[in-house]
Amino acid sequence: MTRTQLLLVLTFLFFAAPAVTQTAAASREVEAVYADSHSLYVDLHQNPELSSHETQTAAKIAGRLRALGYDVTEHVGGTGMVARLKNGPGPTVMLRTELDALPVEEKTGLPYASKVHAKDDAGHEVPVMHACGHDLHMAALVGTAAIMAHSKDTWHGTLMLIGQPAEETISGAKVMLEDGLLTRFPKPDVGVALHVSNRQPAGTVAITPGIYNTNADSIRIRIYGKGGHGASPHTTIDPIVIAARTILALQTIASREVKPGEMAVVTVGYIHAGTKNNIIPDEAEMGLTVRTYKAEVRKQILAAISRIAKAEAQAGGAIREPSVERYEGTDAVYNDPPLARRLRTPLEAALGKENVLDGESINGSEDYAYFIEAGIPSLYFDLGGADPQAYAQAQATGALLPSNHSSLFAPVVDPALHTGIAAEVAVLRNLLSGSAEDLRRQLAGH
Ligand SMILES: [Zn+2]
Ligand SMILES: [Zn+2]
Repeated sequence: MTRTQLLLVLTFLFFAAPAVTQTAAASREVEAVYADSHSLYVDLHQNPELSSHETQTAAKIAGRLRALGYDVTEHVGGTGMVARLKNGPGPTVMLRTELDALPVEEKTGLPYASKVHAKDDAGHEVPVMHACGHDLHMAALVGTAAIMAHSKDTWHGTLMLIGQPAEETISGAKVMLEDGLLTRFPKPDVGVALHVSNRQPAGTVAITPGIYNTNADSIRIRIYGKGGHGASPHTTIDPIVIAARTILALQTIASREVKPGEMAVVTVGYIHAGTKNNIIPDEAEMGLTVRTYKAEVRKQILAAISRIAKAEAQAGGAIREPSVERYEGTDAVYNDPPLARRLRTPLEAALGKENVLDGESINGSEDYAYFIEAGIPSLYFDLGGADPQAYAQAQATGALLPSNHSSLFAPVVDPALHTGIAAEVAVLRNLLSGSAEDLRRQLAGH
């Protein structure tokens, strides 16, 4: 080895050593709580509960957090939960997990696969599965809570953990806010949440500054015709034919009206009409989902849907105007850009630079947006859940891994849970280090 080579090696060791040490330290801390978090994960996975019915789930989380010394308030917005740990002066930082599972029959074949069935809100018996990974988010939050409670010399301020019900029905965040999340408790200076998916390999996280996901709007259109005998269509006004024309015309909104390149999805997810082949029904109903990034595109599309539905009904001679109802909706999650920039550093230090990826906006939606709208600047980041080998193979062959909500969705818990805890701890310690004023000054709009 020449002197130059030796110098290069020494320089490399000097710069590489601190990152490696920090990563190892983060890893040791997580190891100490991992077994407990993992057993909670398996328990939650085997016992999923539907949206707004997360009673046992919330009680399990609340019990563990109470045992760790957190001040826990249950039943905030139905089954929601708020847990706080005060540790001197400093910012208040919120970390959020969802509590709910989905009406999906699990087909993963895992030894701890869910066999649970429950009654949905319409009274139908449905299979239930944590097909969106919220069980992993809860297990990570409890692991993180334990580390934070055991290392109070590494941070100061108030840590506020929230268990939000009914994310899958886009209602829980709103209900928690209406039940006084920000008035009964001090308003957090910033918020953090993560979501696991197969979009990236387990062991990694990804950050998307700015728009993270889409505005989502659910629309119900009801067309009023005039029923009668299928053999005498001339005596009727057929709502099915009007609905069919409406569906095709709706498809021209994204392709003809919205500027090419803008995010715009208009999907008719169901059409219900009729009971028998030789009866023309009185009415037809259809349900749509609309996804956009920009407020002005959203407005344009919603107006176009209404215009087209009314015009087609008129063209078909409908007896009255169709009803066009937006019955559910949420805004896009917006990641505060300065916050996203700031938190990259601690994430890289904890996980290794190569494990912190650049994310991109996704087509999903999330009611976390309500917290941001209520004035909590936030970072909502991605957590890798895919088996790294399967992920690489899928990338090479163009195959698709099971997405969230699939009956086959099964994130690789080790290391995804490990990474989730390490990431949350790193982010929280970073945010709970200075003063609330300094933190607020750093965020967008200040
Ligand atoms: Zn979901
Ligand atoms: Zn989810």
